[in-house]
Amino acid sequence: MTFRGDANFDTSAVSKGGGGGGIGGGTIAVGGGGIITVILVIVSMIFGVDLTGLAPGDPIQPQSQEQSQGSEEVTGCTGADANDPANVTCRMEGGADSMSAFWTATMQSNELEYADPTVQLFDRQVSTGCGDATSAVGPFYCPPDQRIYLDETFFAQMRDQFGAQGGNLAEMYVLAHEWGHHIQNVTGQLGRVQQGDTGPQSSAVRSELQADCYAGAWIAAAPQTADDDGSAPVIEAVTEEQMQQALDAARTIGDDRLQQMGGGGVNPDGWTHGSSEQRQTWLSNGFNGGVGACDTWNAPQV
Ligand SMILES: [Zn+2]
Repeated sequence: MTFRGDANFDTSAVSKGGGGGGIGGGTIAVGGGGIITVILVIVSMIFGVDLTGLAPGDPIQPQSQEQSQGSEEVTGCTGADANDPANVTCRMEGGADSMSAFWTATMQSNELEYADPTVQLFDRQVSTGCGDATSAVGPFYCPPDQRIYLDETFFAQMRDQFGAQGGNLAEMYVLAHEWGHHIQNVTGQLGRVQQGDTGPQSSAVRSELQADCYAGAWIAAAPQTADDDGSAPVIEAVTEEQMQQALDAARTIGDDRLQQMGGGGVNPDGWTHGSSEQRQTWLSNGFNGGVGACDTWNAPQV
């Protein structure tokens, strides 16, 4: 995925620094233990990638003073910055700009109310409306505060530890997947996930595959999607090679592959996100068929 070099991003969705925290936190505290448990369970089921147990012995340092002092909005990125392989921050900003334009238009055309999620880039540890989290859980979406949490080092980990090819579109796919969970949240589809329901055809896997499909729909549409201010799309045409890198990322984080890498055998009953093949299939379905091709809930088989 390549950004138009002179593109300027006008989203305020992305922040960087410590915790988003706070938002929704008060409600949770008042609600007591039962609600906390429920919310944590929901979140653990919708993590973009659950790396728990696959990256053992990674000590999480106590939250530093800087982190607890809150976060700053990411501003001033250009398309050229976002294309820089080392500049994950600006890439997330650019991706968020394009996803905002795509989903705002898509939801409007379906006469659905919509507001963007926010994206919180964090370092190692973060406080969220869903509880405290560390990088070890991978990127995730927290429904109560409508926020995507992502440790920028995750992409290096995907390459170095999990053997993904990497690439800008592979990184964008991860953000777009989490954005997909936000869409499910605002449309009510997230409520169809039943706690403890796992396996290749489970509600958990159908939810994850729909998020992959939504990511594919965005990838296909992004080069034609302009902001409503009339400026040109921030993203240029997607090449075959770039799409292959996104599919490679989907393969890398398939449940069967992660189970194998974890040293155990493949146990489909435990799947929460779908196999490598399922994830690639639904990413492709969205890419080829758009949002309308993403009804994983009513598909006889996913
Ligand atoms: Zn997910």
